[in-house]
Amino acid sequence: MAEILHVPVVETVLVPEDVELYAAALDILPFGLMLYDERGTCVFANKRALILIGLTGRPAEAGMIQAVDRTRAAGPRTEHLRGQGGALYEVAGEPLAIGGLRLHAVRIADLTLEDDVMRSQATAAGDLVHTLRGPLTALRGYLELSVEEPDPRGDYVQRALDAALRVQQIVDDILSLATLVSSGMEEREIRCEDVGAIAHQAVTAFEPSGRLFRLRIEDAIPPVAMTSAEVRMVLLNFIGNAVKYSEAPAPIDVDIAREGSMVVFAVRDYGPGIEPQKQSLIFRRYHRLGVRGVQGTGLGLAAVRELTLQRGGAVYVESEVGSGSTFFVRIPVKA
Ligand code: ADP
Repeated sequence: MAEILHVPVVETVLVPEDVELYAAALDILPFGLMLYDERGTCVFANKRALILIGLTGRPAEAGMIQAVDRTRAAGPRTEHLRGQGGALYEVAGEPLAIGGLRLHAVRIADLTLEDDVMRSQATAAGDLVHTLRGPLTALRGYLELSVEEPDPRGDYVQRALDAALRVQQIVDDILSLATLVSSGMEEREIRCEDVGAIAHQAVTAFEPSGRLFRLRIEDAIPPVAMTSAEVRMVLLNFIGNAVKYSEAPAPIDVDIAREGSMVVFAVRDYGPGIEPQKQSLIFRRYHRLGVRGVQGTGLGLAAVRELTLQRGGAVYVESEVGSGSTFFVRIPVKA
């Protein structure tokens, strides 16, 4: 007799904005996650789960739908399953309460994934929540204050607005990181022919800062192994930081030069500089050196680093406390 299968149909019970928020957060998880309501209807499945159960166009792992089907039914239950590529999956179901809803969660973990991959993804998710929690707490606190007591000068509202802008900045930065990761997977020509023109545009974008830029572009810069959007992203990050972390009237130097098989972008500022032991830390996600009063997310340099490594290049900083910093990206020439 043919087996009767519950092929999950993801039915939305949360309002669409909530679903997007949950999806964005739960898609980062290094395992598949499916949530079922009390009627046994699947109300949410993250990306990894959709891939594993064959709802993204790729075939499902053999036996996966059946395993999920058995695990979603009742009580805590765990099954193991061998995937086509040799992966060993653990399919585990357990009750879960979220936002007042009684749900049943099915988690599909690939046990053959390297521990450090799992751990670094889990840490990244934790860091993200931690980074967002600060400004969100401030936002809520100042809004509550402005409801509870008179705020004639609008101070509370202003602070709440600052906190909201910070959350938005973090979210925007994360989105651009995410686009980078997925754009790296697309098959397309990765080549930028007009590095010089992009450097001009990047400097022009910062003209409203009133800073003096000294832009030097060597003649005949060859095409490089990055897309134009990526070159722009790198330069905007470096130049943006130079503007943020140094002060007028000191100039900012932007140099584009060829060194053998590489093209080097260098952005020099005459700001406070960075202590030697902290120079490698600033390329890690969310890492900021307490610079008072300067807004940022600690994601810009991490994005530059991830991209540059992906493109076969290198990124580094030379800096001296009290004299300033030069940020470099070296990227291969693409003939
Ligand atoms: P953000 O500027 O958003 O904090 P970044 O990843 O661009 O994030 O930079 C990480 C940290 O590196 C900054 O918070 C700052 O402490 C330090 N930093 C970056 N650029 C400079 C610079 N030009 N001079 C001094 N410190 C810098």
